[in-house]
Amino acid sequence: MPAVTGPGPGPVAALDAVRIAADLARRVGVRATPGEPMAKHTTMRVGGPADLFATAHNAFELRGLVRFARARGIPYLLLGRGSDLVVSDAGVRGLVIAVRAEASRLEGDRYTADAGVPMARAATEAQKAGLSGLEYGLAIPGTVGGAVWANAGAHGGDTAAILESATLLLADGSEAVVPTSELGFGYRHSRLKDNPSELVLGAAFRLVRADAATIAGRLDEIRRWRREHQPLGLPSAGSVFRNPPGDSAGRLIDSLGLKGRRIGGAVVSEKHANFIVNDRQGTASDVRRLVEVVRAEVRDRLGIELALEIELAGDWSAWTPEEAA
Ligand SMILES: Cc1cc2nc3c(=O)[nH]c(=O)nc-3n(C[C@H](O)[C@H](O)[C@H](O)COP(=O)(O)OP(=O)(O)OC[C@H]3O[C@@H](n4cnc5c(N)ncnc54)[C@H](O)[C@@H]3O)c2cc1C
Repeated sequence: MPAVTGPGPGPVAALDAVRIAADLARRVGVRATPGEPMAKHTTMRVGGPADLFATAHNAFELRGLVRFARARGIPYLLLGRGSDLVVSDAGVRGLVIAVRAEASRLEGDRYTADAGVPMARAATEAQKAGLSGLEYGLAIPGTVGGAVWANAGAHGGDTAAILESATLLLADGSEAVVPTSELGFGYRHSRLKDNPSELVLGAAFRLVRADAATIAGRLDEIRRWRREHQPLGLPSAGSVFRNPPGDSAGRLIDSLGLKGRRIGGAVVSEKHANFIVNDRQGTASDVRRLVEVVRAEVRDRLGIELALEIELAGDWSAWTPEEAA
């Protein structure tokens, strides 16, 4: 059965979370929690309860949880660090699987990592080993799996440029080591976005030898740049919109004077116009309504349709833009 992820009602309406959790513990050996607030697990700090929430501490548990959900037709959502997600206030129907499989290995100029390895850790491990290429990972507050999914990139680098292959769990339950050329990479895009039933279990990066001190200097530069240009101390999900061809979404939003525009607890960052920050304990609805206001202003005043870079996740079926603030 194909996986169902993301928004929308499904067979979960009648989900018997407690019974399923007991079954999961018996068969997969992983404890699942009913009603876990997703706001605790997203960098935007919004999101209602997941019907069930379980953590995969290694690749074995990750496979087991996904296969368990698939075999029973339970919708599931893989969660890295929640750094690209705005999860609805209604929460997530089905099972959220937090990926905390975090083994990594260096062999020559190759760095292999489980899907749950934080990209910032990958960047510093590679630096210490005198391997260059992963420096941009310092700017990505997500996991290796999330970076492959999004073809995350920053500071002139991206995942596609240094990835050798990704180990995927395919829709039919088999596993395959898929070379970069077959992952359908584009600007912030991979084939995983089109095939939610394919999951990243791990990745292998091909890096180049360089002086460790020089790489450390580059990491310092990235740290400094981010502190100066991004609202790092405040909850956000990074860039809200994709850059339209030949332009920058932040520049367009800034040119309309939208920095500081607020709905409830969500505000367009004064530091970076393509960031929405949740600086007053806002809701997912606040964030989404502000997203739609900014999008409409750019459409109406500049004639440009901005596409989302963040992902709206969970059950948005009851949401309307007219909700009371
Ligand atoms: C302050 C800040 C700065 C940011 N800067 C950048 C930047 O410079 N460049 C950039 O590209 N992004 C940036 N981001 C966005 C974000 O960090 C990236 O998109 C990141 O790759 C998301 O990884 P994650 O593990 O947090 O994924 P999540 O947000 O947890 O999940 C995102 C999607 O990936 C899927 N997913 C997660 N793990 C897997 C897996 N193992 N297999 C298959 N699918 C999976 C999820 O199901 C979900 O659909 C920034 C975010 C923040 C908060």
